[in-house]
Amino acid sequence: MKKKVWFRGFLGAAVLLTLAGCGERGGDTAGTDTGDAGDKMIGSAIYKFDDTFMTGVRTAMSSQAESEGITLELVDSQNKQPTQNEQVDTFITKGVHSLAINAVDRTAAGPIIEKAKAKDLPIVFLNREPEENDMNSYDKVWYVGAKAEQSGMLSGEILSDYFTANPDADKNNDGTIQYVMLQGEPGHQDATLRTEYSISSIEENGFKTEKLAVDTAMWDKAKATDLMKSFITGQGLDKIEAVIANNDDMALGAVEALKAEGYNTGDSSKYIPVVGVDATAPALEAMKDGSLLGTVLNDAEGQGKATINVAKAAMAGEEVNEESVGYPVTDGKYVWIDYVKVTADNYEEFMN
Ligand code: BGC
Repeated sequence: MKKKVWFRGFLGAAVLLTLAGCGERGGDTAGTDTGDAGDKMIGSAIYKFDDTFMTGVRTAMSSQAESEGITLELVDSQNKQPTQNEQVDTFITKGVHSLAINAVDRTAAGPIIEKAKAKDLPIVFLNREPEENDMNSYDKVWYVGAKAEQSGMLSGEILSDYFTANPDADKNNDGTIQYVMLQGEPGHQDATLRTEYSISSIEENGFKTEKLAVDTAMWDKAKATDLMKSFITGQGLDKIEAVIANNDDMALGAVEALKAEGYNTGDSSKYIPVVGVDATAPALEAMKDGSLLGTVLNDAEGQGKATINVAKAAMAGEEVNEESVGYPVTDGKYVWIDYVKVTADNYEEFMN
């Protein structure tokens, strides 16, 4: 819980207000009486705070709100859609000027959009893409995210390049890459599309693939370690030629399970290439120590910044376009932030 102090001029006297909320408050809340962005407030509900990637997005949202002089209230929906729905009601009662929602269940965006529409409030979804019919049900709804297909394709390219450069990685020499896949949350567009496109990209690069095992580890590192251990027990380390994870936390969980078997610790005869997505700080460290082959930058900073910029423009009644947002806006509603391939050649550029 954070406390924030606002100073406001009122009849020449300084009035001190201390605000304490159950959420996090970001933003420079030094208000003025000129009706500028300092008087505006965004209410943002994040599907759960305990998510490595979304923590990066949250941090970026706070710093962008601060530099724009906008009050941002962030709350943790604790992975429960009913909790998030109540948080939206509370924001509306409080009189926020815009909503920024990272839906728990992206198929449940409809009722939240209805609430916003009833109050003529702009609403920006991020990271979890609402269905198209929901996106089209209101003219003040936007989505900020990244094209999951692109991340899948790039992680497939990283593996293809590795197998091209290291023909011995095809351990049984059958011309086919035998892989295991650790998936994100079922129903999340990033889990479905990264899975599909990573494999189609490997095949487009001229390799055959064989799926040994696939299951969800819900974006979670500890669950991924357990899942990878069960894949190792079920398949045997000798058979597994590649590990594909829908995000870095799960890739790093798989690396833990491999390390426990003496793999990916520096002995080149005991190495299985692992790829993830996000380019989190721990993933970049793992690339540095050689335990993780590669990842794909999911631009948390850009997505956080764009979310605040869309809300800011919409709250001010300005057009939401490239000029006001800083990124291209497709179909007047979608802001797509590019993924970037991260390999041994360039990972250092992404380290802070
Ligand atoms: C990220 C995951 C994250 C998920 C949350 C994805 O885009 O790659 O790391 O857990 O979003 O919705």
